[in-house]
Amino acid sequence: MTAIDARIDLHTHSNCSDGVLAPAALVALAAQRQVALLALTDHDTAAGCDAARAACQAHAIGFVPGVELTCLWRGREIHVIGLDIDPAHAPFIAHCATVLELRRQRVAAMGERLSRAGLPGEALAAEALAASAPTRAHLARGLCARGLAASMQAAFDRWLGRGQPGYVAANWPQLAIAVQCIVAAAGVAVLAHPHRYQVSSGVLRELLTEFKAAGGAGLEVSLAGMGPNDADRVATLARRFELAGSIGSDFHEPGLPWRPLGRFAKLPERITPIMARLGPVAEPFN
Ligand code: MN
Ligand code: MN
Ligand code: MN
Repeated sequence: MTAIDARIDLHTHSNCSDGVLAPAALVALAAQRQVALLALTDHDTAAGCDAARAACQAHAIGFVPGVELTCLWRGREIHVIGLDIDPAHAPFIAHCATVLELRRQRVAAMGERLSRAGLPGEALAAEALAASAPTRAHLARGLCARGLAASMQAAFDRWLGRGQPGYVAANWPQLAIAVQCIVAAAGVAVLAHPHRYQVSSGVLRELLTEFKAAGGAGLEVSLAGMGPNDADRVATLARRFELAGSIGSDFHEPGLPWRPLGRFAKLPERITPIMARLGPVAEPFN
């Protein structure tokens, strides 16, 4: 198999966080879509990695255990993907437990705020809290299911986004702590979706400087839904900071055609593939 023909995906979510498919169902869909290398990167938990690994073995898909850690940098929420982590590393498990407790407290507080705004906040929060990693996306789906928002985006814009009636800020761990946690768990830290942070180019460069200083090694240069201008901008940053390029979909659910599972293992020129850092399982894709 040549690198160009291969499909890989190093950024996906299962229902262990805010995806809708169980890990085994996610892997079955990946097999159907001819994905040859898959990472499961749930928000702040690696709880689905054992099931995903077993399913990948059954489908002869290369598996990379991963996570997407939520953190703060200068008061902003930033996401860092950890690839090829050891999900059993005790300090990593402790880090995730801390963040998941913050998540539970936040969703409960957001439920209270939504109730004060006249919405069924208690029920929405209870549904979200059934997930091992409760997220705002769970609240958004509850709003959509009740006809209280027309779409996930509308739910965030009207109720759940920063500055909206249901919003509660969370005191996530700092960026450097999250990166160091991934590195300590034998993982490779990749800055997720750099084009989505609403900061100036100068501030983004400062973020990358600190990310790299903390041990960060990669940047998502090819992500589903990324336009050509963003792709060029991020590729330029990857070269400038000598960060390896990662590829993924940020898949959460089937039925979002603009974010399909699996992408061609093709990177812009003069960018080192992150696959080169992921050991033997990723060798065919370098
Ligand atoms: Mn998500
Ligand atoms: Mn993210
Ligand atoms: Mn994600």
